[in-house]
Amino acid sequence: MASQLASLAFAALLLGTAQPAAALLRVVASTPDVADMAQQIGGDRIEVVTIAQGSQDPHKVPVKPSFVTKLNRADAVVVNGLGLEHAFLPALLEVASNPKVLPTGPGYIDASIYIQPLEVPSSQNRSQGELHPLGNPHFSLDPVRGKAMAKAIAEGLTRVDPPGAERYQSGLAHFETLLDAKIAEWEQLAAPLRGVKAVSYHQDLVYLADRYGLQMVDTIETKPGVPATPGHLEQLIDTMKREQVKLVIREVAYEMPLAQTVAERTGAQVATISAMAGGLPGTAGYVESIEANLKALVAAVRAAPGQ
Ligand SMILES: [Zn+2]
Repeated sequence: MASQLASLAFAALLLGTAQPAAALLRVVASTPDVADMAQQIGGDRIEVVTIAQGSQDPHKVPVKPSFVTKLNRADAVVVNGLGLEHAFLPALLEVASNPKVLPTGPGYIDASIYIQPLEVPSSQNRSQGELHPLGNPHFSLDPVRGKAMAKAIAEGLTRVDPPGAERYQSGLAHFETLLDAKIAEWEQLAAPLRGVKAVSYHQDLVYLADRYGLQMVDTIETKPGVPATPGHLEQLIDTMKREQVKLVIREVAYEMPLAQTVAERTGAQVATISAMAGGLPGTAGYVESIEANLKALVAAVRAAPGQ
């Protein structure tokens, strides 16, 4: 019996050496959203590692050395784009010394190529706290724009790995079908948001507001990346009272107490959403994340006085 087992183990070992598993395409994704899209499109042809975590502020993701090795060995890097990864990706890529995945390389897959940027500033100066110098990079919060991201990712994977073209095409088609069905469902779900005035913590709701008819009045941050000053908060509270704003949107990466204070002083409701997939419980996937955000917004609107 023992010898039988031993020979079986030996045979398995031989089989293992004779038929190595097909090498997976090594993909590093900057955010959980593009990671999920890439995984849905690439299926078992690719292996995805994600840098940012859903509950983090994408503008403040820490640079971890462990990602340097992963980027060094990567066949492709998938990014949200439009500068969202400025806090961590350029620095990591600089030391990873892998020309394939540099922005100029064939393995750099930019999910923003089909996005028409909104809120493009007339002057570009990060030193003044401007975190969105190329326009607002938070387009993934709108699922219709999410579809455009998936298309860009599928094309990028095909470019890097032409023999996988069929897989990427069918993966994209499957994801688009799923998303289309959800987008139709979400139109109904989000109907109560139309015409609702809101403030958010960070200026990241422009694309979602554009899709579902929210009216973004102001932000708790003085401007993107610049914390609220007492002066700005007083002005914000005055504006909210004057404009009868009943919804404060707090992204999970930002502190709750300040959002709560603003809501209490204006009689508004707080909705907690996440700017990236995985920030709220049970939302590891892109579709789950969009749905959880919309449900949280609708629940807060329903709970708001006078709605
Ligand atoms: Zn931002």
